[in-house]
Amino acid sequence: MSSSAPALSQLEMRGSFINRHIGSNPDELEEMLEALGLDALEDLISAAVPADIVDLEPLSLTETISERAVIEHLRKIKERNKVFVSLIGMGYYDTSMPAAIKRNVLENPGWYTAYTPYQAEVSQGRLEALLNFQQMVIDLTGMELANASLLDEATAAAEAMSMSKRLSGSSSSTFFADRDCHPQTLAVLKTRAGSMGFDLVVGDVFNDLDKQTCFGVLVQYPGSTGEIRDLTPIVDSAHKQSALVTVACDLLSLVLLKPPGHFGADIAVGNSQRFGVPMGYGGPHAAFFATRDEFKRSVPGRIIGVSKDRHGQFALRMALQTREQHIRRDKATSNICTAQVLPAVLAGFYAVYHGPAGLRMIAGRVHRYTRILAEGLMQLGFTIETRCYFDTLLIKTPNRAKRIVTNAQEAGINLRFIDGNTIGLSLDETTSRQTIRSLWRVFAAQPADLPQINALDAQLDDCIPNALLRSDAILQHPVFSNYHSETEMMRYMRRLARRDIALDRSMIPLGSCTMKLNAATEMQTISYHEINALHPFAPLSQTHGYQQLFDELEAMLCDLTGFDAISLQPNAGSQGEYTGLLVIRKYHQVNGQEQRNICLIPASAHGTNPASAVMAGLDVVVLACDDDGNVSIDDLRKKTEQYRDTLAALMITYPSTHGVFEEAFREICAIVHDAGGQVYLDGANFNALAGICRPGKIGADVAHLNLHKTFAIPHGGGGPGVGPIGVGAHLAPYLPDHPVVKGVNPYKNEHGTVGSVSAAPWGSASILSISWAYIAMMGATGLKKATLTAILNANYIAHRLAPHYPILYTGKNGFVAHECIIDCRAFKKTCNVTVEDIAKRLIDYGFHAPTVAFPVADTLMIEPTESESKREIDRFCDALIAIRQEIADIESGSADPDNNLLHNAPHTHRLLLDDWQLPYSKQQAFFPDNHQHDDKYWPPVGRIDNVFGDRHLVCTCPPVSDYE
Ligand SMILES: *Cc1c(COP(=O)(O)O)cnc(C)c1O
Repeated sequence: MSSSAPALSQLEMRGSFINRHIGSNPDELEEMLEALGLDALEDLISAAVPADIVDLEPLSLTETISERAVIEHLRKIKERNKVFVSLIGMGYYDTSMPAAIKRNVLENPGWYTAYTPYQAEVSQGRLEALLNFQQMVIDLTGMELANASLLDEATAAAEAMSMSKRLSGSSSSTFFADRDCHPQTLAVLKTRAGSMGFDLVVGDVFNDLDKQTCFGVLVQYPGSTGEIRDLTPIVDSAHKQSALVTVACDLLSLVLLKPPGHFGADIAVGNSQRFGVPMGYGGPHAAFFATRDEFKRSVPGRIIGVSKDRHGQFALRMALQTREQHIRRDKATSNICTAQVLPAVLAGFYAVYHGPAGLRMIAGRVHRYTRILAEGLMQLGFTIETRCYFDTLLIKTPNRAKRIVTNAQEAGINLRFIDGNTIGLSLDETTSRQTIRSLWRVFAAQPADLPQINALDAQLDDCIPNALLRSDAILQHPVFSNYHSETEMMRYMRRLARRDIALDRSMIPLGSCTMKLNAATEMQTISYHEINALHPFAPLSQTHGYQQLFDELEAMLCDLTGFDAISLQPNAGSQGEYTGLLVIRKYHQVNGQEQRNICLIPASAHGTNPASAVMAGLDVVVLACDDDGNVSIDDLRKKTEQYRDTLAALMITYPSTHGVFEEAFREICAIVHDAGGQVYLDGANFNALAGICRPGKIGADVAHLNLHKTFAIPHGGGGPGVGPIGVGAHLAPYLPDHPVVKGVNPYKNEHGTVGSVSAAPWGSASILSISWAYIAMMGATGLKKATLTAILNANYIAHRLAPHYPILYTGKNGFVAHECIIDCRAFKKTCNVTVEDIAKRLIDYGFHAPTVAFPVADTLMIEPTESESKREIDRFCDALIAIRQEIADIESGSADPDNNLLHNAPHTHRLLLDDWQLPYSKQQAFFPDNHQHDDKYWPPVGRIDNVFGDRHLVCTCPPVSDYE
């Protein structure tokens, strides 16, 4: 054997995922370190990070496990989940995701790694998919306008409540919810009403509405227990007292039923889950929100609208105030930032795939099975309480409910146990004749006398009166008819994906959004049947795998953050903020400090922070930042003194949104604690801390993490997200619980909790496996290395760009944290070039722009993450440096002041259709550097006219003639 042969132990090393996740190889890392004058990655800790926050105490995480081992482990976990036929209903129904959509969208990085479509010119594909979603919701609900998704049905109802208060003109502070709404919706409403100072009355809307003055009403349609009622009288009597009416409705039933928009509803909300998106033990799914055109400026979340580009061509973008980082702080209508783009895209494609006839067949079949099942149960001697139903029945079974539910479970079926005498059940798209017969068998005393399906079918007429059926055509736009062959569908999905820049094309250097690798092994887990097919209210005895996953993930996150307890319920960072602040409020109340209602927030904060504080019922007081971008300690001392008796909390982002590790974090926490306040840490930037700092040990009482940023859940084009919060032990008892599933908060004590903040007990449960896999494969070593590499990459970029653009803020020794801000303010004066021009010119170079205009106007915030290689980072820096030269040419007068590369960017293929008349070459316009030669990204549209789109707001698919 030659002495240079590697030893077997070296060859056996399998834990190489770290090197797959981190973009640069060791040589490249070394080159970057050298450029910064450092010897080793570890040296960054002393160079860039304040000594008093560093915590290198080893994590108790297991060491790295290989990709193969992770998959094996997750297989074992998922096998502990038992998949039953779940007919529990309550807003969650089994469905079939068409395989064409699963493979081409859900499992396609072109779709799932995209960012929120702020840069509309490179997002036309998903914008069109979202426009389809809006059109589908508008058609089915009969409303005039729909947004592009909210987090879940329950929070959509809560948003409808807030909007009703703003718009109703009623002076009442009461919101009336019908008692036949889903219980999780009522629970989330209760939490929200409590924090916003509304009185929530839950009652029988048909008998008690007149006895009540209120600003808004919520009714479920069909009811949670199945009854379809004519809501016209409710709408009339609510409108008589200037109250707005929200209808929480079921999309599939609306294929057949008279839609809310046709009987005068003001707002329609609901869940699009059953349009091909798996239940996933609670989520993620896209909720929808539809309303009247006159309310368009008050709609929560994002609306996709039609506009035109500079060539007058049809183009899409986010409309109204929903563009850019425009969450309007404490004036915001809602705190929603990350929504549910990917699930909305999936549901929209489901409607495209099936079309109006297909959906009518599915809805018709579900209803017919329900009708036959009901009649059969009556023949078996049961009383069906629901008289007029779509897919849900309420069945009276005096004293036998418990036994029947148990028998059903023995037959592999979950039913809804309502009380000792009553059972509920809902059928769905996957129901078969077999299901019906099994149900009869479960209910029947004597199995021999089962009814005959065909005989019942022949003799039964329908139970829904004509007055409650819809008579209009739905989904008439050609997009819902053109792609019913799989070949056409496949090409349509690919055509849209090609229009977008996602991570599968080039780096997306988005400050604060951490667009890192979403590895294939991590993503694999969300395709498992045992992860997807579980109903969120399935008995816990069937979900041991999930419970293990939650326990292990919570332990990992506690270990990393230094907190004592985690709640996985919040569905995005914004929801984590709201939840964390509620927990703080509750803590003060329990301690007899109810008056503490002031929330200090630095001027640099993300817009969600103040918006969440307002939702939590707190008064926002803005803290000044000093010239270096740090929280002003003087101002903090002044304000904590001023609000000594009323300070509830400080919300602080660390490292700051200015991209620096402030030196005074511990001091800031101490000042706040000294004044009786709690410290809320916005953990969106945790990618700069994982493995080197535990916020829970250095002064933070609560923090949210964005699993869709730091922990590898893909951005999905703007969602789904997961925003769990970690808290110290003193706050754990108040973490959210759930009205249907018990034991969600094991720390609960006699003071109670903050209630529920999401519809599902563990939020978006199915995608937690992604973060679990990421942490398991990286291990303690990998996570620390990722953090330091992210900091290295950001500093390398700052180092390369500093000679060309001013770096706005730096910390200790001139280092930045994991992102940096480059200052473009001067160009406006020197040559009328804006930061937007630079963002659009980057498209010609094949890049998605960094974060524009947040947290400082006219700047770019760049976050490369650890997953980008030095090669890609250099390519990006080269592009920005080349653009700087293009700017210099305008400044010096050698390029035209108006008609130039920046102002005309991005350059589209349309320019090639006419004679070339621009004062620079095609080469400069389209192929500014060598990289475009082998992989040119052609933007499908030119610069989009936002103002035009907002003046002529269209949020539906335009007539086909407009596309031609
Ligand atoms: C992303 C972000 C948020 C909001 O998180 P979502 O998951 O989008 O709701 C809050 N604060 C900061 C600093 C962020 O970057």
